Amino acid sequence: MSSNHLMQTYNRYPIELVSAEGVLVKDQNGKEYVDFLSGIAVTGFGHKHPVITEAVVKQLNQVWHTSNLFDSSGQKELALALSNASGLDKVFFSNSGTEANEAAIKFARKWGSGRYQIISALGGFHGRTYGALSATGQHKFWQGFYPLVHGFMSVPYGDIQALSAAITKETVAIMLEPIQGESGVIVPPAGYLKAVRELCDRHHILLILDEVQTGMGRTGKWFAHQWDEIRPDILTVAKGVANGLPLGATLCTDAVASAIKPGDHGSTFGGNPVSVAAANAVAGLITDDLLTSVLERGAYLKSKLKEASLPGIQSIRGLGLMAGIELKQGLSARLVAHQLQESGFLVGTSGNSVIRLLPPFTIGHSHIDGLTEAFGSVLAGYEAHGVAV
Ligand code: PLP
Repeated sequence: MSSNHLMQTYNRYPIELVSAEGVLVKDQNGKEYVDFLSGIAVTGFGHKHPVITEAVVKQLNQVWHTSNLFDSSGQKELALALSNASGLDKVFFSNSGTEANEAAIKFARKWGSGRYQIISALGGFHGRTYGALSATGQHKFWQGFYPLVHGFMSVPYGDIQALSAAITKETVAIMLEPIQGESGVIVPPAGYLKAVRELCDRHHILLILDEVQTGMGRTGKWFAHQWDEIRPDILTVAKGVANGLPLGATLCTDAVASAIKPGDHGSTFGGNPVSVAAANAVAGLITDDLLTSVLERGAYLKSKLKEASLPGIQSIRGLGLMAGIELKQGLSARLVAHQLQESGFLVGTSGNSVIRLLPPFTIGHSHIDGLTEAFGSVLAGYEAHGVAV
């Protein structure tokens, strides 16, 4: 169906995905694709997972919406699961990643009682609403939207000296992704997060980690920062938390939560019963075995692509089932993604040169073999046409 009424905020591919099961999706013409994108890091447990579907259908048949004026055993159960997984104490529920980050920013400033400056990283991405956008260290997202919120600044990612030099008496928090997703799966140097944690402790400022993309098992731990054996003061999740239904969560320590009183923040739909039912099912599925299997599949994905030593690939990076494939200069990630799509594989892009892979946790070795082969054919096509790959 053609429509002139949709806002042009997305560069959409001209296919509609009309059905899906597990790691496979079908378009309106019946063409099947292997999903290496999961929405964008959302459907970690694949499409129509029976346990999640059952929980959602059960909730739909009970009650859809009650508002946050009433008690919610579903929210309490999920808050407990997230608290157990993160070691943090309190949870606020919203609907999306940007909202989870807005709450994080507000909570940090309230806790700071007067201190307001938040230092984030260049290349970071935290969302599109004004607070999250102001923390997003990518100027291209700011164009046309000035003035941004006062009191944000960004410094180079992975550079502890730059962070240290930026701290002033107004600084209340440092806000980072443990791995930068949107800007191309950028993994910081080993020891960076630990050093940031120490820096925050030394200056009595909060560490806010945005795990909207890296959280909920994606890197082979519940949360990516757990690889560094640290704990943030505030942690945000969304995307995969409810496997495709809208939900965001802002987790924090008791110390931060104690600054927040009724009326300080809220959301009509946040923590809605249906998304929460899905998220409770998701939480139950994140077992040690699942996390081990994410790591194993991620390692297989990377080793398979590396072994194939495909022309046109500059480097492959990432952790668990989060991979960024940097293409050589001159190749367009969007075009390569489109050609992989034509070969039956849905992949993502970051900027002009990175193919981003965020497959469901159930992706099989045979799917990975298939993608590697298709990638090889696409890139060989460039070589055959004399493009320097
Ligand atoms: N934070 C990170 C790290 C993200 O990757 C994203 C989305 O890509 C967001 C925040 C924003 O999430 P949402 O689109 O749900 O608002």
